Amino acid sequence: MGKSFDIGLERLTGAGLPSASEGVPYIEASRGDTAAAGGTFYLETFGCQMNEHDSEKVAGVLLARGYKQVETPEAAKVILYNTCSIREKAAQKVFSRLGELRPFEGQLAAAKGLEGDTRLNPRKVVNAGGGKIIGVLGCVAQQEGQEIFERAPWVSLVCGSASYRKLPQLIAELEAGNRRVTGLDIDTDETFETEITRRDNPFRAYLTIIEGCDKACSYCVVPFTRGPERSRASASILQEVRQLADMGYTEIQLLGQTVNSYADPSARKMRFSDLLVATAEIPGIRRVRFTTSHPRDFGKDIVDAIEDYPAICEHVHLPVQSGSPAVLRAMARTYTREEYLEKIALMKSAKRSIGITTDIIVGFPGETEGDFQETLSLMDAVQYDGAFCFKYSPRPNTPSLTMIDAIPEEEKSRRLAILLERQREIQRSRNEKLVGDLLEVLVDGKSKRENQWSGHTSSNRVVNFSSHAENILGDYVQVKVTGATPNSLIGEALTGTGAQP
Ligand code: SAM
Ligand code: SF4
Repeated sequence: MGKSFDIGLERLTGAGLPSASEGVPYIEASRGDTAAAGGTFYLETFGCQMNEHDSEKVAGVLLARGYKQVETPEAAKVILYNTCSIREKAAQKVFSRLGELRPFEGQLAAAKGLEGDTRLNPRKVVNAGGGKIIGVLGCVAQQEGQEIFERAPWVSLVCGSASYRKLPQLIAELEAGNRRVTGLDIDTDETFETEITRRDNPFRAYLTIIEGCDKACSYCVVPFTRGPERSRASASILQEVRQLADMGYTEIQLLGQTVNSYADPSARKMRFSDLLVATAEIPGIRRVRFTTSHPRDFGKDIVDAIEDYPAICEHVHLPVQSGSPAVLRAMARTYTREEYLEKIALMKSAKRSIGITTDIIVGFPGETEGDFQETLSLMDAVQYDGAFCFKYSPRPNTPSLTMIDAIPEEEKSRRLAILLERQREIQRSRNEKLVGDLLEVLVDGKSKRENQWSGHTSSNRVVNFSSHAENILGDYVQVKVTGATPNSLIGEALTGTGAQP
């Protein structure tokens, strides 16, 4: 994170949306903690949308305790990294960030509780004698636990996503003189629910409805880092959506590693598709998104909901991972190629034109050239509107770590390049078919170039378009598509169609 609020928020604040500080109810800071002393924090986020949203909640909790967020680690009393460990590269990034904060040897000795030269490096000061607190949050924290203290002794706080509510208390313990604190329980009773989320996106509000994952794909660390599935009660979700609508948000995105595996823990027992409909029916809500859907739990009821409720966005992110039946089995994905294609057929036969995107992994252990060709043929058959493609990365604790027949790195790179090129051509051709169409766009960006704006369609396509209107950020406008690239559409707003909802 560490990014500033953009001009959209300022403008919309006037229209009733929260400002950075207004959005969080004030909770009195307890005497003697960092907040009372005017604590500052720097928060940087790595990884997926769920991590981004967790960071919004972490920021909300700390702001509510009186902390101020700052833009650089140098300016902060508390430096927090919300980490991702889905692939090795992502985890390494965090340790390289921590390396940048490595203190002088004397300070290091002090951090370890040893005597030593305690000269201060003005930038790299550790939590010794009122210095900085450096914390690792999220998936790397949960995965590596106390070992982080061994690798980077200047870290004093390690906290997984299930323990974020305890953060102010953990920081207060450090302030009180503790040298190391951890919050590593995988709490199965509650999700990280808070009403004091600080929202960074003024146009789209994120809401986690299900935490963790019970699926156990053989390559994936998520079940280890985020724990088992826990769903949030439907009444609590809908109440928060109503609050968001009152604040002026018109677009809601429901989040979960397997969002459609949602299982309402309350007596109401709402199905996921019922929850989508109930969210779409809340006055003021014009768009409901959801991600990520797992193919096994994706059924006709979700497609019916999209067909019947225009406010439910015509976009489904349905990761396939591989087109090869053998690789899908080895990945323990719990569906076959045919079953996956049946779900795609359900969407393709819908009355609305549903945008379909996916995730694909190349170079899974044992993936033959034939398996890879099956992934390419599946891409041709589905014609995805977008795909996140990854090289397989072996991860600690996962079953695939010990599988034989690792694919050489150069071969993974070769397959990835072919996949990306194929997908690029598919996107180019799919986007070109939209030239001449009229699409509704929620405007969420203004270019430096005069009269140029950008936004997203219901199918989540990016549209860059021209409009002579003075300020249409947050508006829904009708845009005539005049051109297409593989990654975006180009268009012109129809005059007089901008409407503040
Ligand atoms: N729950 C989602 C699902 O089932 O598709 C995906 C969540 S995961 C955070 C996002 C994506 O990261 C996965 O869909 C997969 O493509 C990719 N991924 C996960 N583990 C990986 C690994 N070990 N190597 C490469 N890519 C991986
Ligand atoms: Fe990971 Fe599979 Fe769960 Fe997705 S469904 S989070 S890929 S274990």
